[in-house]
Amino acid sequence: MTSPNITRARCIVPITRAPIHDGGIVTRGEDILAVDTWKQIRATYQGNYCDLGDQVLLPGLVNAHCNLEYSSMAQVIPPPKNFTQWIQSMVHEKKGMTETDYANSWMTGYQDLAKTGTTTVADMISQPQALFDNLPLEGSEVIPFFECIHLQGNPFDHSTLDMTETFLARAEETMGVKAGIAPHAPFTTTPILWEKLRERQALSSCRYSMHLAESRDEFDLFQHGNGPLHEWLKEMHHLPCWGDSASPVKTMATAGVLRPGMLLVHANKLTSDDIGILATSKVSIVHCPRSHLYFGHPPFPYHALARQGINIALGTDSLASMRCTEVPLQLNLFQEMRHMLDTYQDLSPDMVLRMGTLHGAKALNRGSTSGSLEPGKQADWISLPWQGSHGTLMEHIIFSKKPPGQVVIKGHPIAMESN
Ligand SMILES: [Zn+2]
Repeated sequence: MTSPNITRARCIVPITRAPIHDGGIVTRGEDILAVDTWKQIRATYQGNYCDLGDQVLLPGLVNAHCNLEYSSMAQVIPPPKNFTQWIQSMVHEKKGMTETDYANSWMTGYQDLAKTGTTTVADMISQPQALFDNLPLEGSEVIPFFECIHLQGNPFDHSTLDMTETFLARAEETMGVKAGIAPHAPFTTTPILWEKLRERQALSSCRYSMHLAESRDEFDLFQHGNGPLHEWLKEMHHLPCWGDSASPVKTMATAGVLRPGMLLVHANKLTSDDIGILATSKVSIVHCPRSHLYFGHPPFPYHALARQGINIALGTDSLASMRCTEVPLQLNLFQEMRHMLDTYQDLSPDMVLRMGTLHGAKALNRGSTSGSLEPGKQADWISLPWQGSHGTLMEHIIFSKKPPGQVVIKGHPIAMESN
């Protein structure tokens, strides 16, 4: 058996327990064997020692929603007048992209995330080749979600289901990962698509992610039958047909689409009834702070959702819906955490860091392997320079604009020289 790697740092932040001053972490292969004070570790373990010195060591970040394939679209679409206008611009921009463009775009975003400390990312995939052309990956663990769209008014094409099954099988075979399914949104999917997904055993057992209640336009479409999204879909003969007028959340709940463990992305525009529905559905919510800022969506009801005990994770979404709040403009979950703290000043930095680590892991059903530093979990950790006092530790972590000194994924350090 290989001897363990023993790493000492000025401080270790396990997330699930208090920070450990002068701590040590012991790993073997992909796994964490122990996390404790250096004194305790040194008395118990022998192996390859490494002292990081003035660094704080914490779990790798978990990005619960991203579209890596749009990473070349930073600042291509200026903040739009409304959400519908942005979708229209995206449809136009996507027409000009080749398979190679998508593959390169994907890799740019992937590298940015790894360099800025994300060790697990849930990536929504509409162009499978963009992912598969970049295998094998050396960096963050990717949990792909295959995007499904069926517009009302179009005939249902069963090959959508076959393509989804093929994608899941290929992801399992080439990446060793159980991929998920991302039916895009309530206005781009239909009751028949959801019914067909439910009918196939291989598809119904997957983890699901959906954009839901993202914008005023979506809310107005479903609740009031008006607004720009309504007008546009009507013009194209794609008006969704889910039954009686109700909020997007209530519409999906009534259709039996919501289920435990589902990742609902955005959830910006909610009624008070919606919040109760989300709590009883046992879903996770993924908030994307900088995408929210870009669109100027209604305030994200963080406190109302958190009070119900709903798991709230963080995502970056894509660079196509981000304005530059910090240079460089890049996919970076630290920037999302900073923006979250700036917006919700009554939130503790500890909570925001939990959202960027453990809550993301829970949302992705990785709560037993990722998101905190504990024996038995995967050795995914990052280090940041730190010489300060304990009172400012969490602020320091979130507001540190220096890239991580080390990023270790499944026990392997990834190359950081291109920072
Ligand atoms: Zn998205």
